[in-house]
Amino acid sequence: MSSAPHAPRLARSELNFFAESGLDRASEKRKDQGWIRAQLFERGSCIVPVWRERCLVTAGEPRAVFLSSAEHWSVFETREPPTFLGLAGETAYFAFDLSHLEGGSEGADLAGQLAHGAAFLDLRTLSTRIDRNQGGLLAYASGMMTWHRRHRFCGACGAPTESRDAGFMRACTNETCGLQQFPRTDPAVIMLVTHGDRCLLGRSHRFPLPFYSTLAGFVEPGETLEHAVAREVFEEAGVRVQNVRYHSSQPWPFPTSLMLGFYADAESLEIIFDREELVDCRWFERRWLIEKTAGPPDDSFRLPRAISIARRLLDDWLVAAA
Ligand SMILES: [Zn+2]
Repeated sequence: MSSAPHAPRLARSELNFFAESGLDRASEKRKDQGWIRAQLFERGSCIVPVWRERCLVTAGEPRAVFLSSAEHWSVFETREPPTFLGLAGETAYFAFDLSHLEGGSEGADLAGQLAHGAAFLDLRTLSTRIDRNQGGLLAYASGMMTWHRRHRFCGACGAPTESRDAGFMRACTNETCGLQQFPRTDPAVIMLVTHGDRCLLGRSHRFPLPFYSTLAGFVEPGETLEHAVAREVFEEAGVRVQNVRYHSSQPWPFPTSLMLGFYADAESLEIIFDREELVDCRWFERRWLIEKTAGPPDDSFRLPRAISIARRLLDDWLVAAA
């Protein structure tokens, strides 16, 4: 695995799934309403449909399905204009939220109307079989649409808000208030805690299968990333850590997270885990994990999906320690 010597951290993050959309965001164009509107009606422009945090992909080998304003204008005309995501070469990409439409079970009826054989998928269940740029593009579109859907009213005065700047700002329509809101991203720390040749993994109540992962949690106001790492590990596992080191970041807009990956050293092996959060939390030997990851899939022990930064933190540690 190579990384550019001049930008090792950037290169490490670029390797994470959902990190690349292949777009130039062209943020300088967002206030140019004439240009944005012209792009929207350009024949080759692509509109990413999002339905309740799901994105439209072809069945089987997953590929993103795009709509065009020419073909699907009746879908767009009564709603707020699509959000401008950026440019890939000359092609403009937009996102549009279809959540107001009844979609049938998991959006199947709506998906069928929009494109034969397509389905609305939860991106977290995507495998790395989808093109990396398409995965990143869909995640970006989904995150933007979720933000719009959840900020339709002003948090200060309760009046309706409206989309501005090609979808990158929502302004309160109450003139005496005028609050402006911008797309939000919630920082979350995710960390692999190690002690010599062992690493700490926990199993959450949320997963029926024995799925073990790194610990994680949201950063709180007034807290550094390092403090957030130490607090979350102590809250969840009762383990004190030191030497917190940044690894890489991963956009995880499901609905609004940015995952910030770290390694940390445990001060001791004693675990007192939070039984409300976790079913189990324990130390795993490096050698045992290497054998497990090399072997066939095993329903008695699951590790995080290949698209997750949790898996990258673990895999990079296994390789570095080997
Ligand atoms: Zn307001």
